[in-house]
Amino acid sequence: MDTTKSDQLYEKALQLMPGGVNSPVRAFHSVGRSPLIMKKASGCRIIDEDDNEYIDYVGSWGPLILGHSHPEVVQAICECAQEGTSFGATCSKEIEMAELICDAFPSIEKVRMVNSGTEATMSAIRLARAFTGRNKIIKFEGCYHGHADAFLIKAGSGMLTAGSQLSPGVPSAITGETILCRYNDLESVEEAFRQSGADIAAIIVEPVAGNMGLIPGTREFLVGLRELCNNYGCLLIFDEVITGFRLCYGGVQNITGIVPDLTTLGKIIGGGLPVGAYGGKKEIMDLVAPQGEVYQAGTLSGNPLAMAAGLATLKILRDTDWYDRMEVISYFLTGKIRSLFEARGMYYVIKRLGSMFCVFFTEDEVYDYESAMKCDTQKYARFYREVLQEGIYLPPAQFEVSFVSCAHELEDIYQTVAAIERALDRMK
Ligand SMILES: *Cc1c(COP(=O)(O)O)cnc(C)c1O
Repeated sequence: MDTTKSDQLYEKALQLMPGGVNSPVRAFHSVGRSPLIMKKASGCRIIDEDDNEYIDYVGSWGPLILGHSHPEVVQAICECAQEGTSFGATCSKEIEMAELICDAFPSIEKVRMVNSGTEATMSAIRLARAFTGRNKIIKFEGCYHGHADAFLIKAGSGMLTAGSQLSPGVPSAITGETILCRYNDLESVEEAFRQSGADIAAIIVEPVAGNMGLIPGTREFLVGLRELCNNYGCLLIFDEVITGFRLCYGGVQNITGIVPDLTTLGKIIGGGLPVGAYGGKKEIMDLVAPQGEVYQAGTLSGNPLAMAAGLATLKILRDTDWYDRMEVISYFLTGKIRSLFEARGMYYVIKRLGSMFCVFFTEDEVYDYESAMKCDTQKYARFYREVLQEGIYLPPAQFEVSFVSCAHELEDIYQTVAAIERALDRMK
């Protein structure tokens, strides 16, 4: 595989951009090779600057559920661009988007569009704090909610002590208000409430975690969180930035029936353009300016191009049976990968839910951050590089989820399986 052009461009990028990238995971650090620079993509295929073609299971980290450059999405963007790219005033597409989101999520009565998932979660906790008049929030180890200060926290010496900062530049005064609990461990949350229940404004959680590999929240865990929030008068925030419209038309809350007070969205609802949203009960959302006093704004929020791409995407998902097809395709793919590992006596855990899946190299069950961290990341790095050689583009990091899109056909899956088989044979 020749990556001369990618390598040259990356050298140049390193001089001009921190780490040569605009988001850290793109630097491929954890898979031990220099990053690819991508040129174009269509359907489930992505092509780098050296014209190597890959079957893509990253899908821009989740947004591209219809595949790259879906014709209807592209058409919607083009038509929209010809009529103006931004007004700085409300356009009808924003209202249509709000209506689609409110229809799809029973828990969302009103919604505010923003420009990224980070903005959505940051704004949601501000709102939760304002609504409850409390400052502390609970987040879970291994869940990712974007890069706002409050979330950049890691475990201190003991769990449940206020965590320490994950990043320089984050004031300890801010992370001191974040309590870190263990995912799928209700006991750790109960303990936090026993200690600080009266000060906790909200629990924020990925109901299906997609940022420590794929780890679904257990029913018992999610129900327990809802009950604790009810008992202590704090808000439950489901961060469905990945899972919104990924597993069904709606979110994990539609599947489980567990109703959060606030929901954050992003990724798929922008159809590949930059978008985020947060929404929930009217009485809470009405605190947001200009109706209420919780300030939150955005020059490009509800941008027409992003709304056009998102609307086109959501309507296709709403009016077709793609979720069923993706279920079959990803079930088939992960089943085949399992067989390849089994045949070679490899230890592994494959987690899959709908079109999301993740391969861990470990002997033990994976159910939270700590158990995920036990897996062999060196082995994943090797697996990643070998599979890449064979034209398969997986996430260049162990703790990220792979996505099947509507554009992955059975033929692509056969090709993927054959490629993985060749890669594994080289790994011996
Ligand atoms: C990606 C992601 C975010 C952050 O979204 P950005 O658009 O990257 O800022 C927040 N929460 C979850 C669960 C995510 O996966």
